[in-house]
Amino acid sequence: YIVAENVCKSFGTHQVLKDVSTHFNTGEVSVIIGASGSGKSTLLRAINRLEPHDSGTILIAGVPVTDDPRTLQKQRCEVGMVFQQFNLFGHMSALDNVALAPRRLRHLGRTEANEQALALLRRVGMHEHAQKYPWQLSGGQQQRVAIARALAMQPKVMLFDEPTSALDPEMVQEVLDVMRELARGGMTMIVVTHEMGFAREVADRVLFFDKGRIAHDAPPAEFFNNPGNERIRAFIGRMS
Ligand code: ATP
Ligand code: MG
Repeated sequence: YIVAENVCKSFGTHQVLKDVSTHFNTGEVSVIIGASGSGKSTLLRAINRLEPHDSGTILIAGVPVTDDPRTLQKQRCEVGMVFQQFNLFGHMSALDNVALAPRRLRHLGRTEANEQALALLRRVGMHEHAQKYPWQLSGGQQQRVAIARALAMQPKVMLFDEPTSALDPEMVQEVLDVMRELARGGMTMIVVTHEMGFAREVADRVLFFDKGRIAHDAPPAEFFNNPGNERIRAFIGRMS
């Protein structure tokens, strides 16, 4: 569904993505792991054009990611993103956070948008907190609202950039559980995470980023039992 061909990106003289070529298929859950600074976030941000790449091609459903505003708006509806920091609107209830984009971008009426938002909050186990503001919610609860908000655009793909890294340990599982359910429902997902258990159980593929390159790409059983090289083995050892 998403194809990257020879994608390069530099910040100044620092080349962060070096000829990255890969593909993320419909219905597949891909987990990206790798050291800090290896380019994981930059690739996700390039897919969403939050960061334009310098050369190479990124295709979403066959359409190149460029600066063309109409195409970009459509692509951003197709590709939902969840960040490490939940980025909820602080002055809006959970329900309004989820209903906002459907009203603005999908032009739903208030009643319909709210009904749909409530259904999404139910799906992430947050319907009882619909009227609460972000400051009244725990980190894990806020992140589940953020997932519901991304789902409200009815995306075809969900990108997650370390969605549990900012959470207290006891809240990590509730967010991973929601992601596991999404995967079970057939959502195409690209997940940057340090949660090796999630990678083992949920991923169809695990990709290891090393200094701007994909150094290894394999199904989890193979990836963890036979991790390509010593650097990858050492990384997995540190994370597990
Ligand atoms: P982490 O695990 O710490 O999140 P990452 O693999 O996501 O790391 P990126 O955020 O993609 O790494 O960053 C790759 C490199 O690009 C880093 O060296 C980072 O400092 C640099 N970088 C990222 N964004 C920018 C920016 N906007 N301007 C300059 N340098 C940047
Ligand atoms: Mg990152």
